[in-house]
Amino acid sequence: MKNELLIHNSLTGKKEVFTPLHEGRVGMYVCGPTVYSDVHLGNCRTFVSFDVVYRYFQYLGYKVRYVRNITDVGHLEGDADIGREDKISKKARLEELEPMEIVQRYMNGFHDMMKVFNVLPPNIEPRATGHILEQIDMVQAILDNGLAYEVNGSVYFDTIKFEEKYGVYGQLSGRKIEELFSETRDDLKNQSEKRHPSDFAIWIKADPNHLMRWKSPWSVGFPGWHLECSVMSTKYLGETFDIHGGGNDLKFPHHENEIAQNIGACGHAPARYWMHGNMLLLNGRKMAKSEGNSIMPGELFTGNSPHISKGYSPMVVRFFMLQSHYRSTLDLTDEALQAAEKGYRRLMEGNKVLQSLAHPGNGAAGKLDEEINATIDQAFADMNDDFNTPRALASLFELVTKINSLKAGQLAITDITEDTLNRLKKTFNDFINDIFGLRDEMAATSGDGVIEGLMELILEIRQEARARKDWATSDKIRDALKALNIVVKDGKEGTSWHLE
Ligand code: AMP
Ligand code: ZN
Repeated sequence: MKNELLIHNSLTGKKEVFTPLHEGRVGMYVCGPTVYSDVHLGNCRTFVSFDVVYRYFQYLGYKVRYVRNITDVGHLEGDADIGREDKISKKARLEELEPMEIVQRYMNGFHDMMKVFNVLPPNIEPRATGHILEQIDMVQAILDNGLAYEVNGSVYFDTIKFEEKYGVYGQLSGRKIEELFSETRDDLKNQSEKRHPSDFAIWIKADPNHLMRWKSPWSVGFPGWHLECSVMSTKYLGETFDIHGGGNDLKFPHHENEIAQNIGACGHAPARYWMHGNMLLLNGRKMAKSEGNSIMPGELFTGNSPHISKGYSPMVVRFFMLQSHYRSTLDLTDEALQAAEKGYRRLMEGNKVLQSLAHPGNGAAGKLDEEINATIDQAFADMNDDFNTPRALASLFELVTKINSLKAGQLAITDITEDTLNRLKKTFNDFINDIFGLRDEMAATSGDGVIEGLMELILEIRQEARARKDWATSDKIRDALKALNIVVKDGKEGTSWHLE
């Protein structure tokens, strides 16, 4: 599989052949969540999309350094850059907690949800508050290069000077400085310190009641939201690296300003390829908590939402996400989820049937060899075409049809060689486990309720042990189940279990 990998680069608006900066290695930075509330399904879609990118690079044999940050300071309400409250500070104030308690709570919840969706952890997960000194250094470097100015303890990036010097501001989003002027005119009272409305804060002097604050040469304050990603990508991936990703709602102002900051500090742009995932919609509208148009992952799993008729398991939801290309919007509807549930089952069943097929031994090439090998090649070609997961899935489903015919005897197993059968088996396992990251949830739910029956029996035995205070037996059962990734929970309503 020596095909070239094509990536759609948002900087040029074109699909380009991926050539890594260092042979055999990929450095990738993706903007992580702002941890001030429970992670919503839109965020999950973006992280699943980049999880597949990460997995596929690894599958191709690249050594990947994947950095995905945690935003725990500086992201202001309404994505403003001055004059609004920090999202985390606000939550801390409302709940009378330490900001770091808020951060810890929602970061833990985020990590749990990533595990539920089988999203691999990044190699480095840096936090903005852990990199304040480096952020101060970058502000200083930008000031030293004459591309920022200080007013009353806050420091602003000078977009006019930047454009004069480098001739580009807005390369990624296509925004023009003049347009930004008219867009932001209404908000000028918050902008009074800025020389130009398109300038943005890189260091903000804290109000007396602001909770998160650090000393700097300019004031006691905190860094602007966009600065952390410039600083942490540079620190862990270098001044230039391969890929920067995020949802396409971050193109402007976040990523545009990141590029300006990196160029402003060290003279060149950070990432060579910018990848943007598209939004998750709910019944046709962007899923956003602020608009009351969202489903939380937990509601989706239990079915406890007016938008859906029943619960859907995490792997069905992951499969649903893979069924659309990461650059297309994905509209979550009950019907689409039902279709995804069928599709997921068909794929997993197909693989089970495939792995059970036996071959009498290699013979001459059969009449199906060429077609099956071509379809396998096509599935990889689909992935090499800007990570086209829906088309790769369609190729696998063509193969599932063949597998089912082989099983039913409509096609003879000797129509393919043993080598082809083995390649087919490996392809399915690689795609399902390594590239798509789909766990087999069917293992626990198939078999006509045998597993449920067994679990009921085991939990009953454990309950009896607990009733007679035989903790050794009860713990032994729980630990043995845990080793099988079955989590047992004791609650008020009795004992329940689920697959981790
Ligand atoms: P935030 O926590 O708001 O900073 O967002 C974390 C990540 O989720 C960013 O990459 C956003 O672009 C992405 N995101 C936010 N809303 C959605 C949505 N409705 N669909 C897909 N991605 C989203
Ligand atoms: Zn970012």
